[in-house]
Amino acid sequence: MNNIAIDGPAGAGKSTIAKKVAEKLGIVYVDTGALYRVVGLHMLNKKIDVNDSSSVIHELKNCKISMDYVDGMQRMFLCGKDVTNLIRTDDVSMAASTVSGIFEVREFLLDLQRNIGKHQDIIMDGRDIGTVVLPDASVKIFLTASINLRAKRRYDQLIASGEKVVFENVLRDMKKRDLQDMNRKISPLKQADDAVLLDTSDLTLEESIESVLKIVGNNGVEI
Ligand code: C5P
Repeated sequence: MNNIAIDGPAGAGKSTIAKKVAEKLGIVYVDTGALYRVVGLHMLNKKIDVNDSSSVIHELKNCKISMDYVDGMQRMFLCGKDVTNLIRTDDVSMAASTVSGIFEVREFLLDLQRNIGKHQDIIMDGRDIGTVVLPDASVKIFLTASINLRAKRRYDQLIASGEKVVFENVLRDMKKRDLQDMNRKISPLKQADDAVLLDTSDLTLEESIESVLKIVGNNGVEI
């Protein structure tokens, strides 16, 4: 399969860009952060302290995750209930980041992610797609942007979805999440050796999409 792996920190524009690229190439977009978010949501629903690894691990067996595509959009289900719109809050973001540092949680989600790419061409985004989930992906891109810009994008998204948030708090949480994601022992966020680095700080969305398409057209070789 010709799979494309996109990794990078929160708010780098991975999902927006990958969705558009998937549309243009006629392949499936897979957002793996959504899986960690569903685990985070489940733990919050069950009032499990996400910093207490053994409680999280114990509760995993009750966390029944599935995903489906409706009109080309990835929908996430928890125990059969559509939770797609419930996993985008700041609380869930932080819970997802915390549980993602637990080895058992990553193992729990690994097969699910790998299986999706086995029978179809996909573009998958996350933190460890190029390094762990799809190490044989034909194209790997590490997408990033400055922290202030990423926080501003996330702030705008949250406001647009009706959340009441303060920019300074979004920035603080994003810094914390970056640190957690980059410094965890298992599958930390890092650029794969064979990934192309793409910094979108000075690029418009259209330019970012064009750059990704060029890298893909070049079979993952830097442009
Ligand atoms: O991409 P998104 O911000 O939705 O991801 C939520 C959290 O899930 C991230 O902060 C990260 O900790 C975790 N994650 C991960 N590995 C992935 C995708 C997401 O650890 N492949």
